[in-house]
Amino acid sequence: MEDVVKQPLLGLTLNELKTVVTEEGMPAFAAKQLAQWLYVRGARSFGEMTDLSVHNREKLAQRYEVGISDPVEQQRSTDGTVKYLFRTQAGDFVETVYIPEDERATLCVSSQVGCRMRCAFCMTGKQGFSGNLTACDILNQIYALPQRGTLTNVVFMGQGEPLDNLDNVLRACSLLTAGYGLAWSPKRITVSTVGLRKSLERFLDESECHVAISLHNAFAEQRAAIMPAEKAFPIEEVVATLRRYDFSHQRRLSFEYIVFGGVNDSVAHVKALVRLLSGLECRVNLIRFHQVPNVELHGADEAVMERMRDYLTSHGVFTTIRASRGEDILAACGLLSTAKQQGINIDKI
Ligand code: SF4
Repeated sequence: MEDVVKQPLLGLTLNELKTVVTEEGMPAFAAKQLAQWLYVRGARSFGEMTDLSVHNREKLAQRYEVGISDPVEQQRSTDGTVKYLFRTQAGDFVETVYIPEDERATLCVSSQVGCRMRCAFCMTGKQGFSGNLTACDILNQIYALPQRGTLTNVVFMGQGEPLDNLDNVLRACSLLTAGYGLAWSPKRITVSTVGLRKSLERFLDESECHVAISLHNAFAEQRAAIMPAEKAFPIEEVVATLRRYDFSHQRRLSFEYIVFGGVNDSVAHVKALVRLLSGLECRVNLIRFHQVPNVELHGADEAVMERMRDYLTSHGVFTTIRASRGEDILAACGLLSTAKQQGINIDKI
């Protein structure tokens, strides 16, 4: 008998679940029960869904699967950060980083296998692009997480450019915030982007989640040297787009700025930042650079970063320095999945 490729239910909206139950000859209210099991209770099998009849569960299991699969590897940092490696539905590998803090626990999720943006400081950029994650792949990083119940925030800052996979990212965000799902406030979700302008507009129109722009240099030519996406999506135009939206209430706009020693940490750079962001309701996060294999760039001095923060804050741009987490496991770099994609033994790198 031919193997049936089962469709995962994780990632389907309530309306889509209604179509599934109708097609299976089940009562309409079963869609709500399914959504509860999938998105609120985090069921991993149809066997757990005890308020559906055994007959209906068996019928579902013939054509569908829940869609949750455990991480295949993990690396734990001395500071409590854990990097997980997940296998996608298509058989690729992506990384997810769990970052516990005093009052918070943030999960950094991936949205693509590899990335088209080719940022010079990023291991994932060097991987090239292999494909988009489905909404199921994105949600699986959350639902299969051993610490799922402790999560306070999800940030789309892992592998890939989230707005280059906009439909699936929007779908995942709306399932996390839906009343029939986890009913999270959109304030608990941040989506980061290099600034794909049309997709950014659509994201801002169709979601209420926070937005983080990967900035890293306010001078266009210098930004293009480390972020080729600047050529297609100039930061000046991205900021002009952002000025049309209201960030003075619940929704937060932040700019991520990795500080590279001798590259983007001068007085001229902070002045350019002030000029670019002047009058915009936003914050800047200065980020320490984690050394990445085969990348010439290096981090800036702590004192330099503090001076940058103080200058920006005193000129009306609220700025923080992001604590460095998981440095010993290269939490931010894509090394684990790159090795796995290429079948390399990680210990030999
Ligand atoms: S930093 Fe982000 S956008 Fe740039 S190449 Fe890496 S994953 Fe892609």
